[in-house]
Amino acid sequence: MSNEELDQLRQELDTLNLDILDLINKRAEIAHQIGQVKKKQGMNRFDPVRERAMLDTITDHNEGPFEHSTVEKLFKEIFKASLELQEDDHRKALLVSRKKKPEDTVVTVRGEEIGIGDPSFIMGPCAVESYEQVAKVAEAVKAQGLKLLRGGAFKPRSSPYDFQGLGLEGLKILKQVADEYDLGVVSEIVNPADIETAVDYIDVIQIGARNMQNFELLKAAGSVDKPVLLKRGLSATISEFVNAAEYIISRGNENIILCERGIRTYEKATRNTLDISAVPILKQETHLPVMVDVTHSTGRRDLLLPTAKAAIAVGADGVMAEVHPDPAVALSDAAQQMDIETFNQFMKELK
Ligand code: PEP
Ligand code: MN
Repeated sequence: MSNEELDQLRQELDTLNLDILDLINKRAEIAHQIGQVKKKQGMNRFDPVRERAMLDTITDHNEGPFEHSTVEKLFKEIFKASLELQEDDHRKALLVSRKKKPEDTVVTVRGEEIGIGDPSFIMGPCAVESYEQVAKVAEAVKAQGLKLLRGGAFKPRSSPYDFQGLGLEGLKILKQVADEYDLGVVSEIVNPADIETAVDYIDVIQIGARNMQNFELLKAAGSVDKPVLLKRGLSATISEFVNAAEYIISRGNENIILCERGIRTYEKATRNTLDISAVPILKQETHLPVMVDVTHSTGRRDLLLPTAKAAIAVGADGVMAEVHPDPAVALSDAAQQMDIETFNQFMKELK
């Protein structure tokens, strides 16, 4: 073969390469359109039956020199790449993602801006027990110059025999105290049917770890004009957590605060394992503010301050912790709530 002939063949190959490139990209565009339709219809993107049929048609027409198995392998790669393309599109489409909205979402609650870089604090008792109990904590919270008060009225307890919270009565106490001290109220709602009533009493709807995938609750919280504090589920992956937030935002409510509160691992030294790396991951992947609940993640009073410091150092937008006037007699979470003096010291160290 002369050099000229070799050049000629190489040119043909170059042209064919570009033709193939053109064709696989055209194919990708069509696959993309199919992906859009499937997404709209809620269909699974991967369809093995359809893939098998396509491979059969291709090998039926294969006249070589490639073996059927080689042709299958090559096309399988093309299918896989198209599927990945569809999945990327899907990820890009998440409303909570930074790809969708590069700038930070700031959630404003009674003048407190959560997500502006300065840490916010949500402090208060685990559960509302009485007016006096909440008022004592509110006084201390106010004295620290903080704006947000937490307290559980509907308590999702592991045992049905444990204190379940005061319900609506608890919300009324919270509202009364919060109004007296000009604080914003954060309280957990466990039942979608309670949201309508609860919005008159609270400033932030908390969705607890045990309800992170209560999709009806997420949809209900997404349908009202009230900020939502969404806690990470006990065993939820970051992707599941982000998707739970997507349920809320997809209903029109963008005022969401994500809260890392520890996940269940084999470790017994702490109540849960604080997944501190979740904070920068969530900050990178979503535009939502991210807080860390140091009480439920550690379950240990001696770890509240160091983990709060870690949370702020790693970029959290705030910290949640529980404070009780007399933790020893608290009706829930007695082991990890701070008394007022410890709380004051905690705040001093963080400021
Ligand atoms: C709470 O914050 O009151 C609570 C019950 O926390 P979690 O849902 O994270 O367990
Ligand atoms: Mn608690």
